[in-house]
Amino acid sequence: MAHPSPTLRPRMRWSRYPITTVKEVPAEAEVISHQLMLRAGLIRRLAAGIYTWTPFGLRTLRKVEAIVREEMDRAGALEVLMPAVQPAELWQESGRWDKYGPELLRLNDRHQRSFVIGPTHEEVITDLARRELKSYRQLPVNFYQIQAKFRDEIRPRFGVMRGREFIMKDAYSFHADAASLEQGYAAMREAYVRMFTRMGLEFRVVRADTGAIGGSASEEFQVLADSGEDAIAVSDGPDQYAANIELAPTLPPATPRAAATLPLTKVPTPDQKTIADVAAFLALEPARLVKLLLVEGSEGGVVALALRGDHELNAVKAQKLAGVASPLRMATPETILAATGCEPGYLGPVGLKCPLYVDYAALALADFACGANEKGYHYTGVNWGRDLSEPQAVDVRNVVPGDPSPTGAGCLSIRRGIEVGHIFQLGTRYSESLRASVLDEAGKAVLMTMGCYGIGITRIVAAAIEQNHDAAGIVWPAPLAPFQVVLIPLNANRSERVHVKAESLYAELGAAGVEVLLDDRDARPGVKFADAELLGIPHRIVVAERGLDAGRLEYRQRRASANEEWPVDSAIETLLARIRAG
Ligand code: ATP
Ligand code: MG
Repeated sequence: MAHPSPTLRPRMRWSRYPITTVKEVPAEAEVISHQLMLRAGLIRRLAAGIYTWTPFGLRTLRKVEAIVREEMDRAGALEVLMPAVQPAELWQESGRWDKYGPELLRLNDRHQRSFVIGPTHEEVITDLARRELKSYRQLPVNFYQIQAKFRDEIRPRFGVMRGREFIMKDAYSFHADAASLEQGYAAMREAYVRMFTRMGLEFRVVRADTGAIGGSASEEFQVLADSGEDAIAVSDGPDQYAANIELAPTLPPATPRAAATLPLTKVPTPDQKTIADVAAFLALEPARLVKLLLVEGSEGGVVALALRGDHELNAVKAQKLAGVASPLRMATPETILAATGCEPGYLGPVGLKCPLYVDYAALALADFACGANEKGYHYTGVNWGRDLSEPQAVDVRNVVPGDPSPTGAGCLSIRRGIEVGHIFQLGTRYSESLRASVLDEAGKAVLMTMGCYGIGITRIVAAAIEQNHDAAGIVWPAPLAPFQVVLIPLNANRSERVHVKAESLYAELGAAGVEVLLDDRDARPGVKFADAELLGIPHRIVVAERGLDAGRLEYRQRRASANEEWPVDSAIETLLARIRAG
């Protein structure tokens, strides 16, 4: 049988393994994957967001890497290994030394030269490309590596899901023109689909924002899980639209606004500051209210964003507005008071003294309520165009379930996901700033067009567990399990027969290339069963006196609820067939 990962030792004895499992749920772990990784002894924490992978954990990590490597190689990408430590000059050249912010770990060497610990490698690879690639004939080319990154995340959490040091597969492609980039991007997309399918994960490919990396088109690979940090909008229509909620646009209302019917009225609302309080006090639905959020402007000062009371601000959309500072920063209560003469809680668009953007949905309201820009008062019966001039309409909220798909062919629902991969069409963002060009057919220098393609190798392990577990522990998709089989002899120290049979099975399975863990510990059966389930090994064989008397072994598939009895003589054959079936 083909060995799943030629770099892993097929056989291992549990008695030689010094890291113990833990019964209690560790207090510091909020999500199930983090809890189970600690309990099963796959990782150990060194510092915030920094983890050691134990031998068991590393086996799964290596399997993820092997699948990624195979598919990258199949797609024609070339493996490289770039340094973690990168000179500041390159980051200054690309312009990201100033732009990247505090996630970038900067340090000085003994000569007071500045360096960064790479959070990503566009600069380094573009530097390699500009030195090595001279002619369009050398293109297209795709370089990838599997390597540790450091990002000083503001909130490292969920174990290796959002670490500070983590392992990424990052790939960068170089092309002579945009058409070639599109082909290269499509090939990577296909390779990613193959990888995540092979790993047995349930995932969606969604449109995404390009964020700090820059560039044009981009898609994320999201593993679906309720605990996921990302919200994704998925259409139920034939358009199959799916996008990160950061990006999913809302459409301007399809019908014209209703006519005004109520007079503008100022209502005392003492101590009613939140939307929920004001709505209850005025006996209105929150959707009949307009709320105002003040953010810092791109040229200093503050800018107001108006949304319907029941809607959420979308920070990614907001920071793309010309007048709004990027990254988005909420105005402080002091700045708000200085700019509007009113404290937060009573703000509204009528008589406002700062620039105003209004979300489509808020602009569609007639006879709405909002703050009166005076402490303790709100207005009711407010109407755009009548009580204040028609403001600038923008899309600045998160889509909500039931919103139309942006293609118009379906309705959106919201699901949660874990971003395990992200692919970008970068264009010339880095080749331009770092001046990476080749000579084209006519002998003219042209900037190379680039794509970049990331995968969170360590995050995948956590995501796989989020999606595959039960009350007893991890339930690995077979291709990611640290071992394929756990072999449990019961009371082998008291039964020579059990001992001999277990050892011979262990040797035979190992010889057949099966990754088998022999639980030869001097422990109670209950402990062994619990640990095997916690560790999530797909196939379990128990060797016991009673079974041997009847010429049988006990088998259990990790997902199954009952044992099977197998004749000893054909057990290996049956097991190999089961493993092949997945
Ligand atoms: P996120 O939005 O989760 O911060 P990102 O957009 O910053 O991710 P990329 O720069 O696209 O991430 O990095 C490529 C991949 O690396 C991501 O798709 C993700 O799987 C992984 N990754 C990013 N940040 C972390 C982290 N702090 N810990 C573990 N994996 C990470
Ligand atoms: Mg990030």
